[in-house]
Amino acid sequence: SVRVHAAAARSGSRLCCGRAPQPFAVSHRALTRAALLAGAPAAAAAPPPARHFFSDPAEVEALRGSLLAWYDRCKRDLPWRALVRGDCGPALLPAVWVSEIMLQQTQVATVIDYYNRWMQKWPTLQALAQASLEEVNELWAGLGYYSRGKRLQEAARKVVSELAGRMPRTAEDLQKLLPGVGRYTAGAIASISYGQATGVVDGNVIRVLCRLRCIGADSSSPAVIDRLWDMANVLVDRSRPGDFNQALMELGATVCVPKAPLCGECPVKQHCQAWRRKLFGNTPKVPDVEDCGVGDCPLCPPATEPWDNSLGVTNFPRKAAKKPPRAMRTATCVLEWRGCHGAPEYLIVQRPSSGLLAGLWEFPSLPLAQDLQEEREREELADHLQAWMGQPVAAKGLKFIGEVIHIFSHIHQTYVVYSLPLDGDMTLDPGLSPSRWVTEEEFHASAVSTAMKKV
Ligand code: SF4
Repeated sequence: SVRVHAAAARSGSRLCCGRAPQPFAVSHRALTRAALLAGAPAAAAAPPPARHFFSDPAEVEALRGSLLAWYDRCKRDLPWRALVRGDCGPALLPAVWVSEIMLQQTQVATVIDYYNRWMQKWPTLQALAQASLEEVNELWAGLGYYSRGKRLQEAARKVVSELAGRMPRTAEDLQKLLPGVGRYTAGAIASISYGQATGVVDGNVIRVLCRLRCIGADSSSPAVIDRLWDMANVLVDRSRPGDFNQALMELGATVCVPKAPLCGECPVKQHCQAWRRKLFGNTPKVPDVEDCGVGDCPLCPPATEPWDNSLGVTNFPRKAAKKPPRAMRTATCVLEWRGCHGAPEYLIVQRPSSGLLAGLWEFPSLPLAQDLQEEREREELADHLQAWMGQPVAAKGLKFIGEVIHIFSHIHQTYVVYSLPLDGDMTLDPGLSPSRWVTEEEFHASAVSTAMKKV
């Protein structure tokens, strides 16, 4: 390593943190170049500098203590926390599992009511295994990302039918055996419900760890995510892993928030490099809070986007720009009929059992090609409705109502809404895909998406 280092120094490569040359502080690029100069095989990977990690056991211990003491004092009163300690019975549905799946991409305030209704309806694995997809979709209606509920139910069915009703209890088994359970959810269930000392990394944890250790490389890249998992596994408290993981997430949700973090109230600010850097500024007097080396450190901000004093700790984390959502137009028609009791009824049809909004009900809808003329749009919709009704539908009879925009995670959807009043016998053909007439009240109680409620 001394030979490699000397070659790197001779080559004029920039060294990590701008400090005096040290054998283990050489940048990856310098190591690779030096190895090539020396005729040796290129270095596979150089570890990033220690300042991006928690390598001091005393600091790890202190951080755990401060964070857990704060959590014990300040944690929010959430329904799934009340059940955590009592949900380890083999037959019970783990509260953490349900809440974690619901909380993906969804705010706590929205989830609470859904969570309470779900646990009341299906308190055990057996009860959930016996539920139908229709019941699951009805309860999930409005929560979005419908495949989550479907996979939760499929996983409960698998536990009951293939695993003798016993939940897997380690993160490795949970992830391997249960559909819809990824690395994060597996870690959360294993640590919170079953006490396994394993870390978790979700959006809140990414933000907190990137700030604690000044990680400014793209936080959605696999290399950075792997480092964050390593860090979470080092940090997790061995005797209270579930509480520690919840505390870290709670800190991200309530104190170390994305836009205006409350650093003054933060229980771990003395361990936070972003906070120190904000306090001391970007001056040469504090070399330990400078970037490691422009362009060389895989965890520092890229040279093209250095630390910005005006952003303070919110310099971290950083993410590559997301792809813009795909634009889609869909024609939809509200068919209205005076039912047997004289009250207006509306036709809803069921979507296919896989893909976007699988198994949910909607007004008959048809995806449109971009830039279709309005006249052609009406004709295509009329043909589509005819297939549902089993009788001719005149394009001229369709009344344009307006447009509804709904943003799915990856789709910018515009619904072009028409209506059509109908008379006569409206008996539906049972040979066609599932469809039914519903009153307005029944519509709202059905498994319909938020987008359809807007329509
Ligand atoms: Fe987040 Fe500020 Fe605490 Fe650092 S000091 S962890 S930036 S809230």
